[in-house]
Amino acid sequence: VSWDLDKGWHDASVRQRAPFQLDPASAVLHYAQEIFEGMKAYRTGHGTITLFRPEENARRFQASAKRMAMPEIPEELFLESIEQLVRIDRDWVPSGDGSSLYIRPFMFASEAFLGVRPAHSYIYCVIASPVGAYFKGGEKPISVWISDAFSRAAHGGTGAAKCGGNYAGSLLAQAEAAQHGCDQVVFLDAAEHRWVEELGGMNIFFVMDDGSIVTPPLGTILPGITRASLIRIARDSGITVEEKAYSFDQWQQDAASGRLKEAFACGTAAVVAPIGSVRHAGGEFSIGGGGVGTVTHDLRQRLVGMQRGSREDVYGWLHSIS
Ligand code: PMP
Repeated sequence: VSWDLDKGWHDASVRQRAPFQLDPASAVLHYAQEIFEGMKAYRTGHGTITLFRPEENARRFQASAKRMAMPEIPEELFLESIEQLVRIDRDWVPSGDGSSLYIRPFMFASEAFLGVRPAHSYIYCVIASPVGAYFKGGEKPISVWISDAFSRAAHGGTGAAKCGGNYAGSLLAQAEAAQHGCDQVVFLDAAEHRWVEELGGMNIFFVMDDGSIVTPPLGTILPGITRASLIRIARDSGITVEEKAYSFDQWQQDAASGRLKEAFACGTAAVVAPIGSVRHAGGEFSIGGGGVGTVTHDLRQRLVGMQRGSREDVYGWLHSIS
């Protein structure tokens, strides 16, 4: 679908995948005016194809568009584009153990000009590809590297938007994590480099010895849909969940004293990933003996069960595609 100042959204079409033709002066190539979403279509046990809370992706896409001075795409148009593509690709939606059709909606500034201002034309597009299970052979704890050199987002910045630029800025930090033998980077806040924010592509939760859960507050982090869903599930099962600032110093102390029992990361890709070990410039430590904690396992089972149709969808979060 294209957008321009005069016509608004127009010319929606379904096409065979092919390269774009872009003018070298297209605004996206210079000022990174680009946003995207990541979602999955699952085939449930009964064979039905379902999306998980796609309205939330639509809303976040609109919020990202607003922040990046781009036109907002109506929720119905966003949902319709996803549904149409999934219907066309229905034979590519895998069944069984964690595999799914990954769906990538995105929008970029296509106007050719070199001045610095919001572009006057955009292209919105959706592509999809089957992906295997994130965890092959059961849930395995991940290792994380605490970046001491880089931050992901500052107050007033674009941290809460799902824009390409945020990821461009985090690639080097993620590569550094890999060099340190870790699966994911953990970002601390930009101002004090003290407060835990999120991972390269996941939000983070801490489980305390009194059974309560702490997760960093919204603001500079990406408002994860998995994060919001887990907060809801945990609270409804009687767990106290606090959205509050948690420092890396506190994390180290709590891990050493045994007050911290479990930590896990969450996002569309892995759903819930236990964090087993933590490396940082000053050393390393493990959490809960490096294994999978019961609270983490339980929350994961509940959410995955709902997404997979083996547990009742008590919140009406599944959106089936016929
Ligand atoms: N934080 C970042 C930086 C991410 O890229 C993602 C993945 N979209 C998340 C958190 C988790 O968000 P969600 O649960 O909506 O996938």
